[in-house]
Amino acid sequence: MEFERGTKGTSARALRHWHWRVRPASMAPYSTDATGVEIMLKGLRGKVAIVTGAARGIGSATVRALADEGAAVVATDVLDDEGDALARDLCAEGANVRYAHLDVSSEEQWRAVVDRTVAELGHVDVLVNNAGIGTMEDVEQETRAGWDRLIAINQTGVWLGMKAVIPGMKANGGGSIVNLSSIFGAVGGFGSSIAYHASKGAVRLMTKNAAIRYAKEGVRVNSVHPGFIDTPMLAAVKGTPFEQTMVDGTPMGRLGRPDEIAGVIAFLASDAASYMTGSEVYVDGGWTAQ
Ligand code: NAD
Repeated sequence: MEFERGTKGTSARALRHWHWRVRPASMAPYSTDATGVEIMLKGLRGKVAIVTGAARGIGSATVRALADEGAAVVATDVLDDEGDALARDLCAEGANVRYAHLDVSSEEQWRAVVDRTVAELGHVDVLVNNAGIGTMEDVEQETRAGWDRLIAINQTGVWLGMKAVIPGMKANGGGSIVNLSSIFGAVGGFGSSIAYHASKGAVRLMTKNAAIRYAKEGVRVNSVHPGFIDTPMLAAVKGTPFEQTMVDGTPMGRLGRPDEIAGVIAFLASDAASYMTGSEVYVDGGWTAQ
């Protein structure tokens, strides 16, 4: 097992944290049963994936899901200590995971991480644009600074990510991009969080637009729309009456778990979803069915 930190002559801050560990050759975790799960595993074996916002919540569950199914994963975030720890823990379990610093609103950092991934692993097959922040402010409460910051991360960050990986995916014959939108990318919710709704609605349509543009070049682009998921993003409302409002408003009567989103992301990333592009997949305990 090898461990590397910010070497190879780069001075970019984006590459300050860069960990590289290799699944021991002796490990043979894949069954040969021709089950649906095995089809998905075949779809991810040998694939290289980049996940943003990967240090915690849905992102860290996604790194685990992709790695469990055979992908080499570059987990990226701005929370370097948590990202380091995630990579260390998963590698200790035999996964092939590295961590790199990436603020998704920085085009320069995107370029650095994608270049480094290609240099080290040869190609990028999967991008999960998961990084995101939340707000509660309505139209009148939102500030220009708050709006600009959220849009830079949740919306511009998704575009920059697609822009960074698509040239390589095209050259490679294809790839799969999964963009995290939300139930609030499709409906107005509680009338709060104007910037969040704007960004998630944009992610939904950027997904469809890019899906059409690159369909004939083998690049699939789909969006995932979680309902209320029990992650640090909901920390501010946990234990408040609003948590009960979310639970009561969800037909399944509970919050979702990060792994319940990660499994769907892994499916869309894999060749098992080879005829899916431009799709919006709701994973919300029935919320949008109402
Ligand atoms: P989370 O807050 O637990 O994790 C988000 C991650 O994004 C964090 O690790 C954070 O450090 C990272 N991040 C923030 N700004 C960043 C930046 N500029 N560059 C790179 N990384 C950055 O949230 P989560 O619940 O796991 O959310 C993951 C995604 O799912 C988000 O896009 C979110 O909008 C979406 N989502 C979440 C819910 C939910 O209920 N939790 C519902 C619908 C959609």
